[in-house]
Amino acid sequence: MKEKYAEIITKIKEADGIVVGASNGLSISEGIHIFAENADFLENFGDFREKYGFRSIIQGCFYPFPSEEEKWAFFSRMYDYFLYTGEASSVMKNLYDLVKDKDYFVVTSNIDDHFRQTGFPEHRLFEIEGNCRNLQCTNGCHNQIYPGDNILSEMAQKQENGKVPQDLIPKCPECDGPMQVHLEVDRNFLQGEAWQASYQAYQDFIKNAHGKKMVLLELGVGARNQLIKAPLMKLTSLEENATYITLNKGRELYIPDAIADKSIGVDGNITEVLEQLVLIK
Ligand SMILES: [Zn+2]
Repeated sequence: MKEKYAEIITKIKEADGIVVGASNGLSISEGIHIFAENADFLENFGDFREKYGFRSIIQGCFYPFPSEEEKWAFFSRMYDYFLYTGEASSVMKNLYDLVKDKDYFVVTSNIDDHFRQTGFPEHRLFEIEGNCRNLQCTNGCHNQIYPGDNILSEMAQKQENGKVPQDLIPKCPECDGPMQVHLEVDRNFLQGEAWQASYQAYQDFIKNAHGKKMVLLELGVGARNQLIKAPLMKLTSLEENATYITLNKGRELYIPDAIADKSIGVDGNITEVLEQLVLIK
């Protein structure tokens, strides 16, 4: 294993550009599991589970809440849960440490916004499915995304009996209609200017790295993931000087034969792997 870690560090050091691809497995290594009905879910969302019957954070995101007061009680609680400590986890700090001095770009489907919380700058970040802290008009009457931090933390604090006070409920400044968190939970998800700009930045990064030494560093992305994993694998096969590094657990670790000679796979706990990598860096 030591040799493998050394090889990864060498590849990262030599790289002209690093694409970091991250999904649910990275959040799980931080202790956040949006698909699980675990002790953490029961402790933080037990009242919602009791009232509506959903059994995970992700089910809550898709739940058709009967009123705005109830909808915002959930989404502000989720915001608070993801970001309440205000401090980045050691997992994220280690990941940042690993790439911060390189030219890198992050593409993720994680909605907890932990990359920005850790200090990853926005212009190096493409959050494909949005995140828990931005708001948009539900009607999609205009393309603007709004930072929701203040209103979300106030709603998280002031909610009672599963409802937020009526006067805190955000309204679209243009059409006065309802708003929602900028997450891809329905067809309303805005892929407007801000989303397009991030997508374009990601494309530009890949274009600029063409032909150079590229590292595609994938963390906790499921074996059959089409959103992040498939494009990274394809890029590896197209790019002569690319190295595909994937960190995952057990059968979720997957490297196709076609790119095996350009790939390094680590089957293990992402928390520990990142710790080790930073230690020998
Ligand atoms: Zn509107």
